[in-house]
Amino acid sequence: MSITNFSGTVLHRSDTGFEAARFGWNAMIDRKPSLIACCACTDDVVEAVRYAAENDLLAVARCGGHSVSGASLPEGGILIDLSGMKNIEVDPAGQTASIGGGVLLGELDTATQAHGLAVTAGIEPETGAGGLTLGGGIGFLARKLGLTIDNLIGAQVVLADGSIVETNTDNHPDLFWALRGGGGQFGIVTRFDYKLHSIGPQVVTAQAYYPLEKAKEVGAFVESFMRTAPDDITLVPVFMTIPNVETFPAQWHGKYAAAMVACDVGPESAAKERLASLLDMDDLIFGFVDTMPYLEFQKTFGGASPHGARYYWKSIFVDQITDELVEVLVEGLKDLDGEYSQIFMETLGGAVGRVPVEDTAFANRSALYNLGISAGWNDSAMDDAIVDSAKRLFDRLKPFSDGTVYLNYLDRDEIDRAKEGFGPNFDRLLAVKKIYDPENRFGGPLGGAG
Ligand SMILES: Cc1cc2nc3c(=O)[nH]c(=O)nc-3n(C[C@H](O)[C@H](O)[C@H](O)COP(=O)(O)OP(=O)(O)OC[C@H]3O[C@@H](n4cnc5c(N)ncnc54)[C@H](O)[C@@H]3O)c2cc1C
Repeated sequence: MSITNFSGTVLHRSDTGFEAARFGWNAMIDRKPSLIACCACTDDVVEAVRYAAENDLLAVARCGGHSVSGASLPEGGILIDLSGMKNIEVDPAGQTASIGGGVLLGELDTATQAHGLAVTAGIEPETGAGGLTLGGGIGFLARKLGLTIDNLIGAQVVLADGSIVETNTDNHPDLFWALRGGGGQFGIVTRFDYKLHSIGPQVVTAQAYYPLEKAKEVGAFVESFMRTAPDDITLVPVFMTIPNVETFPAQWHGKYAAAMVACDVGPESAAKERLASLLDMDDLIFGFVDTMPYLEFQKTFGGASPHGARYYWKSIFVDQITDELVEVLVEGLKDLDGEYSQIFMETLGGAVGRVPVEDTAFANRSALYNLGISAGWNDSAMDDAIVDSAKRLFDRLKPFSDGTVYLNYLDRDEIDRAKEGFGPNFDRLLAVKKIYDPENRFGGPLGGAG
């Protein structure tokens, strides 16, 4: 039995290529779909969803496969792989872009920057625009332009009955509201339409690395700097281990550091002056302020969390960086093994905070930081120890959290956080889920699947 009228490729469990195709970014997630439908067009998605309905299977989309929790890898269901749907159309005059369901952030950035335009995208070019957008979309342009969803102006969606709808603030407004932060649990988006903005192509960036002993000073600097920073600036503190690469002095390789990475999209000379203050503290290990293409800057974190390693994430929104918080993070980092492990705080505020929280499904518009614990490692023998360390740190962070959480950073054992996590938007999301996916064809946290 298979999908009929399908122009893409269907991979069954016995097919060559099935094993390689099923795994996403996080090797910890080892589930077996009953088949993988590699779609070439919207009609293929319709056929795959209809097949899922006829056979009472979960139908789950995959764009970039970067889901931390493995939300795009259903056990026993159909994996609807959109990675072949790479269409990108940019309208430079109208400053809009329409993209297919399988486009990656690096591809979106490249196509829009060819016209000096951009929409908020995340820090890793291989992340899918699909999953990132549907969860919210945080990146270095968010304070200036808002979350990715704040720039989503329309979408084409395949619903649970196989029908195709266009949604925006006028058409199926409840669905459009839910898609903006509520994830892929309401339908499969085959086209995203974005509003674009003039950005770069050159931007001013800075990096500063200090010994972890300076973590409180770094935290205090970020806190005071960001309270008054213009929306042009985003500054992300990262508590990490310095990698063994030539960029850093050899004596610091493998040592802990409190780092800051910043991007300023304002006029060059003012931006350089503002970011120079990141380098002003004593004991700087390495740092610079430089002008570079936005496209190059967007590759800064590329490869820091490589595809196919083992990962476990936890996250909370945080209002303020205090000495108490930094103390917990420093202890937590020292307790957290893993060659790719780090703790980061994405700065929000600016345009993100000017959208009322009920306007989209995204859970928290008031917090100034999104704090992520990203544990990453290769050796499966370390799984339990590292997951336990991340959980211990998360437990110690609870006093700093109001319970809301960024959907895109939920891990696989956190479905129970969905209710509190969606904050004031939970009840409406549940109501929209009942209307658009009454049989829970698409799963997701509201449907009790990861
Ligand atoms: C290394 C790394 C860096 C990251 N950096 C950032 C960052 O800077 N900013 C940020 O906001 N997030 C970031 N994230 C989180 C990221 O946004 C989420 O992991 C996101 O879900 C990934 O999207 P994807 O399409 O690659 O994932 P997938 O695994 O393909 O999909 C994730 C979820 O979205 C659903 N989905 C995907 N496409 C569609 C579609 N077209 N229609 C319906 N449902 C769909 C899937 O079913 C699944 O539930 C990062 C993640 C990683 C692993």
